[in-house]
Amino acid sequence: MKFTASLLAASLASTADAFSVKPAGYARLGSELYARQPIMAGNWKMNPSTEADALNLANGFVALLHEMEDTCAMDEVEGCTEVVLFPPFPFISKVKDVVGKAGIAVGSQQVYYEDKGAFTGSVSASMVKSVGCEYVLCGHSERRTLFSDDDVNINAKVKKTLEFGMKPILCIGETKEEFDLGITKEVCAMQVSKDLAGVSKEDMKNVVIAYEPVWAIGTGLVCDPESANKVHQFIRTVLERMYDKEVAENIRIQYGGSVTPESVDGLMAMSDIDGCLVGGASLFADKFARIVNFKQVD
Ligand code: PEP
Repeated sequence: MKFTASLLAASLASTADAFSVKPAGYARLGSELYARQPIMAGNWKMNPSTEADALNLANGFVALLHEMEDTCAMDEVEGCTEVVLFPPFPFISKVKDVVGKAGIAVGSQQVYYEDKGAFTGSVSASMVKSVGCEYVLCGHSERRTLFSDDDVNINAKVKKTLEFGMKPILCIGETKEEFDLGITKEVCAMQVSKDLAGVSKEDMKNVVIAYEPVWAIGTGLVCDPESANKVHQFIRTVLERMYDKEVAENIRIQYGGSVTPESVDGLMAMSDIDGCLVGGASLFADKFARIVNFKQVD
C-alpha cells in the first residue's frame, strides 16, 4: 500500500494511541507533529567503470521502479519513500538526467570543505550543487580509513554541505575492534557530538544520519535488526542531549552495512530505522529496486 499524507492523517485520526502504532504504508511516526519519511540511498562508490555502464544501471533501476506497483518514489507524493543515488563524480550529471524525471535525487559521495583553490583532485560543495546534487555523504568509513577524514574535517564538510543548501548524510559507526570491546555507544556518541558540533537546531532538519557498523560494510554481515535499532535509539538520546526531543525524534537515521533484498524488510520493521544506505546491492538494479520497495512487516 502506498503512503500519502492523507493516509497518515486518517491513521492518526482513527487511532486512540496513535503514536504507539505504525501508520499504514511506508512511513513511521516521529513525534506528534512529524512522520519520518523513509529514505533509501544507493552508494555506488567507485563503480561502475564507464559512463555507459552507469547509465545502463540508472536506466535499469528506473525501468524496474516503473514496473513495481507499490513504488512511492515514482509518485513524488510527500511522505513516500525518498530515494537518492550517489554515483561517482563524472557520472553525476547524466545519471541525474535519467533518474531526476522519476523523482529520484542524486548526491555526492564527498566534498572538500574549502570553497575553491589549489586543491588538486578535490571538488567543492558549490560544484556538486551546480550539477544537481541534493545530498552529500560525510564521514563514510571508507573516507575515514582510506582517506584520513577525521572528525574535525568531517564536521567542516557537514557544515559546508548545509551552507550550500544540500543535505549531509553523516555516516557513523564502530569498527570490529570497537564492537568487540563493547564500546559501540561510546564511539557513536563521540562521532555524533564531534561531527555535528556547531550545527544549529534549524540545520538539523536537513541532516540524515547513517549508522553503519564498519564490520558490516561490504562484508555480508548484517547487524541484526534489534541490535541496530537499539543503537539508533541510543543515537536519538545523544541528539536529545545535544539539542532536544524534537530533533531527536524527527531526524532520519538509516542503517547501512550489507543490506540486501533479503534483509531489508526486517530492518525496516524496526521503530527507529528510517531507511538504508546501500553499497554493493545498489549496483544491481533489481536488488536496489526491491530494497526501495521494502515490504511492511509487523
Ligand atoms: C556503504 O557503502 O555505505 C555500504 C553500506 O556498503 P555495503 O552495502 O556494500 O555494505
